Amino acid sequence: MSEYWDKQIETISREELEKMQLESLKEIVNFAYNNAAHYKHAFDVAKVSPNDINSLADLAKFPFVDKQTERETQGVGSLLGEMCAVPETDVVFVSASSGSTGVPTLSPFTKTDFDEWQDVESRLFYMAGMRNTDRYVHALNFTLFVGGPDVIGAQNLGALCIWAGTVPSDRLLFILKEFKPTIIWTTPSYAWYLGETAKKSGIDPAKDLSIRRIIVAGEAGGSIEATRTAIETLWNAQLFDFYGISDIFGACAGMCEAKDGLHIAEDHILVETVDLRTGNPIPDGEQGELILTTLRKHARPMIRFRTGDIGYVNRNKCSCGRTHTRIYITGRKDDMFIVSGVNIFPSDVEFVIRGLSGITGEYMIRVSEKNFTAQYSVDIEKQQGSSESYDELAARVSAALKTRIGVKPSKVTVLADGALPRATHKAKRLIDERKLNFNI
Ligand SMILES: [Zn+2]
Repeated sequence: MSEYWDKQIETISREELEKMQLESLKEIVNFAYNNAAHYKHAFDVAKVSPNDINSLADLAKFPFVDKQTERETQGVGSLLGEMCAVPETDVVFVSASSGSTGVPTLSPFTKTDFDEWQDVESRLFYMAGMRNTDRYVHALNFTLFVGGPDVIGAQNLGALCIWAGTVPSDRLLFILKEFKPTIIWTTPSYAWYLGETAKKSGIDPAKDLSIRRIIVAGEAGGSIEATRTAIETLWNAQLFDFYGISDIFGACAGMCEAKDGLHIAEDHILVETVDLRTGNPIPDGEQGELILTTLRKHARPMIRFRTGDIGYVNRNKCSCGRTHTRIYITGRKDDMFIVSGVNIFPSDVEFVIRGLSGITGEYMIRVSEKNFTAQYSVDIEKQQGSSESYDELAARVSAALKTRIGVKPSKVTVLADGALPRATHKAKRLIDERKLNFNI
């Protein structure tokens, strides 16, 4: 069996890939300009035209779009609005994401967009080790969520697929026991929660269940080594992190066996990194906001979409032989907070918490203000059976946070095992108690 789903595309030389990307970019920018009212207007205002694209770097001259652009243009003139570049009769699927500010934004796909998206999913599943001999449990939300249809990518690969969705955990454990699936996709928080829940009911996920690969997405955990290792040990399984956004694909990028960053499907998606404050492009390897441009989606082309995700890229060939850029997500712009001039992401705190012994690994971060200065505190849980005192434990965690992040928390509160809420889907681990907005 081949190591790759699509060897020609996945191992194409950088030069050939970029040549192909440039052709696709010219085509899609031209298509967007001529068919989507928003792009026509935005490019005219910015005094740029599709003819200005002569190299991939020329894309930086073009304006950004973001969630707000989606909200403002949706419903204008038609349901799908001014970013949509095809008549509604050509649209066969929409996902909807609610986000934090109310109106759900719709993400439309033509039949070709949808089929190509699922081919990318097959590629990512195959890269994570899925074969047609696997039984796969898709434990993601199916209701409106863009991750729901990704199961079709697994079916097209030939795996036996079980559309579990977000069934209650006792039901899901029953499915795992009875049907003996080998692969599951869920969030990192839920993978941890489900494993813990299994243990409490006398099932050891590492010995009694047959899951050998776990795909995770939706939270930073899958790329935090300590979290990944903890879940892998709990389940005796390999963990693969995927990255998706509702505005583009259920998953746009995924880990290979090397587990060093996530390969992004670069024949479909162009990735740039820009400075958080200025929006100017920054060199590969430096941390900034990831900007994605869809190269082939026609229902709603995304030209320079500000993802709000912070990370960096590595365009060097991977040890797996794939040439597509690897992305490393380090946090969400929305979740970042600044204490004493240091940018802190919840994932930095998680990295520390999941690497320490004597605690359960659950945590909650509180950002507050004192004398107009931001500070953060962390609630953790002591593991049952640990002999350390609460004070000793708090001091040890506080020192470890200071070492990793550079700023000491104002307080570490140690709670009993089970005191913090367990996430069943996407974990909320940051509470912002400030009245002033300190973020940029
Ligand atoms: Zn690789």
